[in-house]
Amino acid sequence: MNKGVLHMKKWTFILILVLLACMNLQQQAVAAEPLSVRTITKEVQLLAGDYKTEVTTIPANATVIMYEKKVGWAKVKYMEHTGFVPVTVLKSLQPELKLVSAKNKPFVRETNNFHANQLGNLYLNSIVQVYATDDQGWSFVQYGNLSGYVIATALKTPTAEKMIVSNKKGISVKNIASKSGKEVAIISDKTKVDVYTTLQGWSYIVAGDIQGYVARSNLKKTATVKLGKYNQGVALQQKRIALTFDDGPHPSITHEILKTLDKYNAKATFFVTGHRVEKSPNVLKDIYAAGHEIGNHTYNHPKLTELSMNQVNAQIIKTNNLVKSVIGEEPTLFRPPYGSFDKDIQSSLSVPLIMWSIDTLDWKHRDPEKTLKSVQQYAKNGSIILMHDVHQTTADALDQVLSYLVKEGYEFATVSEILN
Ligand code: ZN
Repeated sequence: MNKGVLHMKKWTFILILVLLACMNLQQQAVAAEPLSVRTITKEVQLLAGDYKTEVTTIPANATVIMYEKKVGWAKVKYMEHTGFVPVTVLKSLQPELKLVSAKNKPFVRETNNFHANQLGNLYLNSIVQVYATDDQGWSFVQYGNLSGYVIATALKTPTAEKMIVSNKKGISVKNIASKSGKEVAIISDKTKVDVYTTLQGWSYIVAGDIQGYVARSNLKKTATVKLGKYNQGVALQQKRIALTFDDGPHPSITHEILKTLDKYNAKATFFVTGHRVEKSPNVLKDIYAAGHEIGNHTYNHPKLTELSMNQVNAQIIKTNNLVKSVIGEEPTLFRPPYGSFDKDIQSSLSVPLIMWSIDTLDWKHRDPEKTLKSVQQYAKNGSIILMHDVHQTTADALDQVLSYLVKEGYEFATVSEILN
């Protein structure tokens, strides 16, 4: 009997120890868990703590931050409002990784508005998780414990570099690019990782389900691609020129231009306007299918310096979305109408802002001879030539222009190729 009690006590003691250990583990798990973001599946009322008073209406597909779950209810934050919604309307979404590519440290705001509270900044080349982007051009992002709305033009899709973990002890993955970040996982030596960005010695990596920041010094390249001497020599000797066509696509003239480009096997860059993409989506498809580069030239060609940043952003986003809906990709460059921009506009962009080095003034004189003359007079290695695929006289000039440039030994490149 006595022995039995002792025995029980011993087991109870062990049980308590195990329970304590579990609680401790759970606490750690909670502490390490990043802020959780959810999508609202259908329109719902956000309710106050009495579960009755309506705080605001949350539309379907809105993004919220979830704090805690109670029986049947979840405490969430939607824009500047906090309250409760039934857990049944919440869905977890796999976020998309985006690279912060605007230099102006874009603000994360509480709501999708330029006047909203600023919750923090995002730094150039950091990777954020994007849960949704709305029609007004605001992306709901998360970076560590910072979460809110950022102007979508500040972000772009990153490209990954293959690397391998090189540290016998394994390495710690953090939720932000800092030693003080929370550890989200540990990955072992020789793990293959995709590296999306590196800033101040920290690389954002993805390895299976694990993603986050690791110290760059623990990674090494899997293979180095070397450009052969022969290729380098040719690339250096070759004179290159970028032809650019603005304001289209035009239902007939753009096709004529495509035909001439094809005749000379020349690649060019088309800065399209959103309103014309809406009218002639198939022409844009043909441009893209022929291998030319697509740039954004705003929706309806306003002078951007006369607009608010909200309006500028709307012009760019609307056109990005239209182009993406037609060719499956966003424009890779931006050219402001009339070449008119300021520092704010430039630093808000995630793609290069491209001007030109030779203005043929084709839109003004509408004379094929004058277009040819300006090219003959100013063309040199690396020139970016401005023309417009909405004037018949430009299509008429193109054969002579290309024939001249080929004779002079030029090769044709897209703007991005010229920049690299
Ligand atoms: Zn234009």
